[in-house]
Amino acid sequence: MKRLVFATNNQGKVNEIKQILGEGYEVLSLKDLDIDVDIVEDGKTFEENAIIKAKAICEETGEMVLADDSGFEVDYLNGEPGIYSARYLGEDTPYEIKNAKILERCKDAKDEERGARFVCVIACAFPDGTVKTTKGVIEGKLAYEPAGTHGFGYDPIFYHPESGCTTGELLPEDKNKISHRGIALRKMVDVLKKG
Ligand code: IMP
Repeated sequence: MKRLVFATNNQGKVNEIKQILGEGYEVLSLKDLDIDVDIVEDGKTFEENAIIKAKAICEETGEMVLADDSGFEVDYLNGEPGIYSARYLGEDTPYEIKNAKILERCKDAKDEERGARFVCVIACAFPDGTVKTTKGVIEGKLAYEPAGTHGFGYDPIFYHPESGCTTGELLPEDKNKISHRGIALRKMVDVLKKG
């Protein structure tokens, strides 16, 4: 059985990767290893931040480590909030306020200017110093008003055309099937199984 560490405290993410990896892998979270480190995510891209996290924990544990970095990009705002998605308007500011602010800033954006997407990059750092990354993207539009009570973060203002609703209106199991994180994770599983 191969061991890997997922550099997160979010049990939801750990469960998701366990489900996608299937048997043959033991997936440990930072909590399982009793690791509590504050990693400075000062990269300029999702890739850089995912690599910073994976490498830091790999160096600390000597294990194979996966880390992810994700966010929401709005074309009309030149890709904001992007890598600052969690920190936009302040880490502790409720998403009702963050989402309302984004909609307000985009109130003059026409339909064709409202492109938006969720992006997720997963990095895998190996004890020999090598790193591999995969990326998952889900394309859609900035909604005109928030809708839906499922999900989290920017889900109520992300309209997914193929689903005909915001990702905040999708049931968790339906969102997981199409999510940026799921896409990036499945690609990473392919990379790991080939290696
Ligand atoms: P993290 O990579 O889990 O830290 O996510 C970064 C931030 O991106 C989150 O705090 C949310 O603001 C945003 N984000 C990432 N994925 C999603 C999603 O699936 N729905 C809504 N917001 C998301």
